[in-house]
Amino acid sequence: MDRTVEQIQAKVSAGLLPRQAPVKTWGGFGSDRPCDGCDEPILPNEVEYEVDFEDSPSIRLHAACYEAWQQLVLPGPVAAHRAAG
Ligand SMILES: [Zn+2]
Repeated sequence: MDRTVEQIQAKVSAGLLPRQAPVKTWGGFGSDRPCDGCDEPILPNEVEYEVDFEDSPSIRLHAACYEAWQQLVLPGPVAAHRAAG
């Protein structure tokens, strides 16, 4: 929910979550370990993203938390970017 986005945003601001592009990301199923975004456990029936960085420790996130984090730290194509006119 939106609350999760705020929580992740606060962590990025506080430097608790990396603010850099990952070198590697892969998905799998959770193993009851806490999500680095929302602190809730990622259950074995939920999708977990493990994210590796060059200069920071790896993090693990729910799929939704990963999306939220990614949108905060990456300037990605949220809206279709068309060079018009
Ligand atoms: Zn989470």
